[in-house]
Parts: sequence; structure tokens; C-alpha cells
Amino acid sequence: MEIKLTKTPKFGPSGHSESFLLDHSATIEMPKWVSSLGLELFEYSFGKGVRLSEKTAREIGREAAEYGIEISVHAPYFISLASVEQEKVDNSIGYLTASLRALRQLGGQRCIFHTGSEGGKPRAEAYARAKDAFIRALDEIKAQGLDDMLVCPETMGKSAQIGTVEEVIDLCKLGDNVYPCVDFGHINALYGGILKNKDDFQAIVDKMFDGLGEEKTKNMHVHFSKIQYGPKGEIKHLTFDDQIYGPEFDSFADVIVKNNLTPHILSESAGTQSEDALEMKNIWQSKLLK
Ligand SMILES: [Zn+2]
Repeated sequence: MEIKLTKTPKFGPSGHSESFLLDHSATIEMPKWVSSLGLELFEYSFGKGVRLSEKTAREIGREAAEYGIEISVHAPYFISLASVEQEKVDNSIGYLTASLRALRQLGGQRCIFHTGSEGGKPRAEAYARAKDAFIRALDEIKAQGLDDMLVCPETMGKSAQIGTVEEVIDLCKLGDNVYPCVDFGHINALYGGILKNKDDFQAIVDKMFDGLGEEKTKNMHVHFSKIQYGPKGEIKHLTFDDQIYGPEFDSFADVIVKNNLTPHILSESAGTQSEDALEMKNIWQSKLLK
């Protein structure tokens, strides 16, 4: 497998920001627009299903190549690898392979997904079922020749969701093509605001280094946004204007520079994804000058 690794962190929006929608509507216009902002990434959401024709996907892929934008995809939100219903698990594996086929047409490398939820079962039991299902998914991905792209289980923000840092590390050990998607807003929300300073971010990164080694850690996929939380974790995505919940990107930028990380960082802010992605890039660049 050959993964195109990057020499610096890259930044971009997840989905269409409000500023894009002011005078654009079609994703085909996105690569040129993202590039005009000085950003490098765009994450295409298949949250409600993989509804993208091959023709359109290839057209978007051509634009992305022309403007040097790398597209990642977010697989459907209803993936449920921990389900007790065999049919739901089989369908979930199908959503993953469908996302990967579309990702190939888009010319991208990374497919992000949510593993599933406890569904009222004890955590250990639900996780074991999800892990078994993911092993089957990886076999299917390989059988279909889709294992030259990365699948990235995401760290989740609600306590009933599978996807703690430890669970994601464990899932990432299952294949060379499995890389972590670390959503720092989710981690912060799940544990009631634990990411306060750079030592807190370093502790997460150190767990990744210990569990997954250098390549997967340095090239991790990152979702970064401020997220409102309550006793059960995530409530809703905010923008960088939030002064209450966090986390602050500044501290993670210190950790990126100190550890020579080269993550792909997507903003999932509520409406200001492009502006906040650019703010993150500017913060990271300002650290290099010091
Ligand atoms: Zn996600």
C-alpha cells in the first residue's frame, strides 16, 4: 500500500461553510474556492448516505487535482458495527465500501467513520462486537481491492458511542490501512473539558505514539472544533467565537510543532468551518516563526 504522506500539516473545512454558500452551491466549485483561501483539504460528508454519482465524483476529483486540494470523505452516520442485528452490520460494511469507492473516484485517501453505539448493551460486549464486525469489514475492503486507501475510526463525544482514544487505538492496530481520526472537540466534550493546555494534548498524542507508533500518529486525521457538552458528553458544535467550552487550537499547535506532526486537520465548526480552518493554519504558522 502506498500512502501519500505530507511534509507539513494540512488544513481545510468539513462541509460547506456559510461563506461558501453565500455565492456557491455545488461541491464542484469547492476545490477552487478552498484553494483561493490558502487551504489544502476538504471533507465531503456522506452523513446521510453515499449519494454521489460516479460522474460528479470524478468531476469534483478533477477539480481537486487541478487546485491541489485533497478530499476526504465522512462515511454515513448510521454505520453501526456494534449492532446485535446482523443485517445492520452487513449494511454498515456496505456503507464503508461504498464510501471508499466514491473516495477513489474523488481521488482522495481517507475515509472517516463512526464505529457505532452501545445500543443498551454493556460497553465491553458492544465494543467486542464492533471490533469483530470491523475485522470483517477490513476483509471485505481488501477483497474488493479498496485497501489502498485509509479507513479512520473517529474518537467520539458521547459516552454511549464507541470510540474512546483507547478503543480507536485498538481498532487502528487491525490493519496497515487503519489510521486514527482524532476529534479533539469530542475528547474534550466526552470528559467534561479535559483539554486545557498543551500537556493535556501531549498526553493524547503520547498514547497514540505508544499504541500506534510514529507513522500513524504523525499522519493522524484530526477533526478540530469547539463543542458544547453536558453530563453525557457532546451537545453541539460551536464556532471559534466560543469562550466557554473549548478546546483551544493554540495548545494543540504547540504539540504539532514540538512533535513534528503532519496531521490533516479539518474544521467542523458550525458554519465557520473555512474561516476557522484558516485561523488554525495561521496559528500553526505563527508557531514556526518563534
Ligand atoms: Zn465524525
